[in-house]
Amino acid sequence: MEEIILSLQNIQKSFDGQGVLHGIDVDIYRGEFVTLLGPSGCGKTTTLRIIAGLETPDEGRVLLNGADVTHLPPEKRNVNTVFQNYALFPHMNVQKNIAYGLKIRKAAREDIQRRVDAVLRQVQLEGFGKRMPSQLSGGQRQRVAIARAVVNNPDILLLDEPLGALDLQLRRQMQTELKSLQRELGITFIYITHDQEEALNMSNRIAVMNKGRFEQIGTPENIYEHPQSRYVAQFIGQANILEGVVEQSTNGCSLVKTQAGSMTVLGDFSVGEHVAVCVRAERIDYGDTAPEGFHLPGTISMHSYIGGVLRTLITLGSGQELLITGANPVSLYPAGSQVEVFWDPQVASVVERGAPHEA
Ligand code: ATP
Repeated sequence: MEEIILSLQNIQKSFDGQGVLHGIDVDIYRGEFVTLLGPSGCGKTTTLRIIAGLETPDEGRVLLNGADVTHLPPEKRNVNTVFQNYALFPHMNVQKNIAYGLKIRKAAREDIQRRVDAVLRQVQLEGFGKRMPSQLSGGQRQRVAIARAVVNNPDILLLDEPLGALDLQLRRQMQTELKSLQRELGITFIYITHDQEEALNMSNRIAVMNKGRFEQIGTPENIYEHPQSRYVAQFIGQANILEGVVEQSTNGCSLVKTQAGSMTVLGDFSVGEHVAVCVRAERIDYGDTAPEGFHLPGTISMHSYIGGVLRTLITLGSGQELLITGANPVSLYPAGSQVEVFWDPQVASVVERGAPHEA
């Protein structure tokens, strides 16, 4: 995945004087599955519309295959979009819906038939060509929408919450199908969701957005295991954040003093510097004794079993609560037990440096 297919360079956009995008920069490689993940209103759809040519940025450039397309209309870009509401033509059958774009481009009749048949096979809708959209389930309609968007072999497929209207089970099934379809077609997908599990499950890379900026871009593992900001740590997964001051720092290892006790983190920081440390809920362990080294005393406040995961709250001596999740449905330690809490320093990430966070 070395060839850059799309570059967004310093994209800025305002609506009615309100800044919506504040300098988006990213290179996307051919064949990648990139997800824009962020809460409602953070600018995901606006970014997608700028790539599609449905909006023009106030500043910055969009390069497609190295060519500047910033001011080209949508039909001059080899990019297609799939929307959440499918946008199928209700009066056309499946075959005609899919063939529509090819007809507009004046492809030969036999060619159209061949490509429509091939794409129907790819989305597992063989034999559905004569059905009308109203005779399809939600999942089938979404597959037709995808078939229609990929039939002209776009360089990039933009997908704006395409599974948002489906129930959870079908959504999971479609995630797997979409991911394998993307691999099979080799088309670059840029996908919008605000569902973190969906983003982690499907993407080669995730761009986490916050208020019109990319907070972090990386592989799902990188984003999850090494969040670079408090925002990313808290937006994805269950994060415990401990605040402290760096006491010592030598050879890539630092000691941070928090209210609950001192802990080791990887990385060099300045002595006296304020840091926020993130530890994932599933990375924390506890027991009546701890292995040699770092541990913090605490009291179990409560357990709750939420199907597959036991959630445990432990109150540390400082009063701070830690959330711990584990796959074992039963804990040896009932609420009220005094325990020692510990984790491997390798799993602790510093997600903020400098002034203490204002709540
Ligand atoms: P959602 O997940 O809810 O779809 P989003 O992250 O896709 O949100 P955008 O649709 O990009 O967010 O919108 C970002 C901001 O820009 C919002 O505050 C929205 O109201 C505003 N906005 C988007 N399009 C326009 C427009 N055409 N005119 C005015 N404001 C707009």
